[in-house]
Amino acid sequence: MPTPTPKPSICCYCGVGCGVLVAPLPGGDVSVVGNPDYPVNRGALCSKGLNLQYTVNDRSDRLLHPQMRYSRTRPLQRVSWDEALQRTAAVFKTFIAKYGPDSVAFYASGQCLTEEYYVLNKLMKGFIGSNNLDTNSRLCMSSAVVGYKMALGEDSVPVCYDDLDLADCFLVAGANPAWCHPILWRRVEARKAAHPATKVIVIDPRATDTCALADLHLQLIPGTDVVLLQAIARVLLENGDVDADFLAHHTEGYETYRALVLARPVAESAALCGVPEADIRLAASYIGSAQAFLSMWTMGLNQSAVGVDKNLCLLNLHLLTGQIGRPGAGPLSLTGQPNAMGGREVGGLSNLLPAHRNLANPAHRAEVQQFWGSGPLAAQPGYTATEMFEALEAGRLKAIWIVCTNPLTSLPNARQAEAALAKAKFVVVQEVSSQPQTLTYADVVLPAAAWAEKEGTMTNSERRISHLAKVVDAPGEALPDAEIICRFAQAMGFPGFDYPSPEAIYLEHIRLTAGTSLDSTGLNYSTLKERGSVQWPYRAGQAAPDTPRLFTDHRFYTPSGRAVLHAPAASFRSEAPDEEFPFVLTTGRIRDQWHTMTKTGKVSKLTKHLPQAFLELHPQDAEALGVAEGELVTVSSRRGEVRVAARLSVGIRPGVVFLPMHWGRQLGSDLNRANNVTSGTLDPLSKEPDFKFCAVQVVKYRPA
Ligand code: SF4
Repeated sequence: MPTPTPKPSICCYCGVGCGVLVAPLPGGDVSVVGNPDYPVNRGALCSKGLNLQYTVNDRSDRLLHPQMRYSRTRPLQRVSWDEALQRTAAVFKTFIAKYGPDSVAFYASGQCLTEEYYVLNKLMKGFIGSNNLDTNSRLCMSSAVVGYKMALGEDSVPVCYDDLDLADCFLVAGANPAWCHPILWRRVEARKAAHPATKVIVIDPRATDTCALADLHLQLIPGTDVVLLQAIARVLLENGDVDADFLAHHTEGYETYRALVLARPVAESAALCGVPEADIRLAASYIGSAQAFLSMWTMGLNQSAVGVDKNLCLLNLHLLTGQIGRPGAGPLSLTGQPNAMGGREVGGLSNLLPAHRNLANPAHRAEVQQFWGSGPLAAQPGYTATEMFEALEAGRLKAIWIVCTNPLTSLPNARQAEAALAKAKFVVVQEVSSQPQTLTYADVVLPAAAWAEKEGTMTNSERRISHLAKVVDAPGEALPDAEIICRFAQAMGFPGFDYPSPEAIYLEHIRLTAGTSLDSTGLNYSTLKERGSVQWPYRAGQAAPDTPRLFTDHRFYTPSGRAVLHAPAASFRSEAPDEEFPFVLTTGRIRDQWHTMTKTGKVSKLTKHLPQAFLELHPQDAEALGVAEGELVTVSSRRGEVRVAARLSVGIRPGVVFLPMHWGRQLGSDLNRANNVTSGTLDPLSKEPDFKFCAVQVVKYRPA
């Protein structure tokens, strides 16, 4: 029997988007290896990618058939697809007729393929007539999106990964790429090994593995990033390390920003941040003397009540120094999910429209309406992720359809989210796995095909679009997510959802990019397969159709064509510690787990690294609390509590404690779920939650 040819695909974990080759094995299993020809990873994979085959091969928790119930006191019963979708359509129609289109919502995921996002967006915004489509990307990169739009005019990552091989100064802020984006980090390590003069600056309240490569670790007090970044800007100004020509010809807002940062002495900023003044000056001297300065950041900046302000201050460093739009230089926001970028391309958040069109612009709404042949698009943004659950609890939202995400582990203040789902009139869960706790509240369960069981595209953090092949059939009656949504839209009686293939959806999406900043007219699956991947905007027919780098002409997407230096005052909007809750809690990821562990948690090799949830705290704090390494502690906030083992580390600031975000309800207990205690405070512009800052109490656990 001939050996089956492996098919190219993309790792379904983080936004690095490594290329893999997937081959079918007897019995419906697959084998996975790194794709040596793929430019992102050149065959390499991290610990998670090396175990990717288990996402398909371990079917122990797979949902195999649609299920339904008429009362939550009864068990779910197996039904046909027609029955499940007809009833769901009937319920949605009833709510829409009685309470209006804003009474229903979809809550989806950055793991969805671009085609899936596209049909969800078209269905909700075009045909149901509400913008109530949001995704879990709201929880991880929406502050970066707003920052890019405000500073550069659009949500556009200017750089490419090849810039990592060219930069000579890296600023890593609020990120631990050594654990969370390892394949990219290896490129930074290789760059530093080849060019030892390359400088690496890390801004983080914790000394993570990323700091092992750092020339300078600025271990700031949580929440003081704006002050720190503005202090660095001030030293750049003092030293004359700014690009006056770039500022004069390609930016606006410089004078206001200059006045703001000069108003606070560096020594005062240093005291506020808990960072030595000399280190701030050293960081500025590294950036100011760099030929090519590149910054990388993730949740430490984004998941904050001042997340947009933090992003703007980081972007300002690039604008002050003119370090954007040229090789090795620019801001590179990293994403935690494989297709957060693809979702943004099609407008898959409650305040976006396809292809970076502006929801507030009537002409843009009319353009999309005409293209879809739909009814008018609502002008008001829909509910964001946490707002959906608040609206459910308040009774304003009647029905929620959860696609491919696990909100009762990932949302802040998870007990409130549970209460909201309990009160929801109608809950649809479209899922691969039977693990998510959302199934407890589901009225209808729809089994979805997993990675490698369906075809589509994804876009990684450097705007690189790739095709993901279908390699094996989904088990049972599970269907691709796009097919489920299209079947439902047809059950609702909406036209325009009878696509003959995933590519037909993709081609429609591409036609809608025409004339926009991500115009990729002419791109199709054949081109993606032939070329392996492309970077948008893609200019079909040209000698060099890809766009690895944006803004090389220093023309930005703002109305004036100039980038904007915004001047946010340093403000504090988080939950302040007090006598009762004296510690600052920050949450984050560990090396071998991904998100809520529904995939990585099943792989024994990956659970060995850190098998249990834990609380990281400084030995000084542990001593004051009478807690030894490994002893159980109770972490409580105004919202709930967590009980986990203490893990002592001199790498965390005294007064700050850390919980990993991956664990949810297991074996009937949810006491290892970090989001029992996190705060629902949001950034006012991005509506991204403040996962990196809330006030908690820590006590040694003493069984009654
Ligand atoms: Fe997958 Fe990210 Fe690891 Fe690459 S770095 S193998 S995309 S988890």
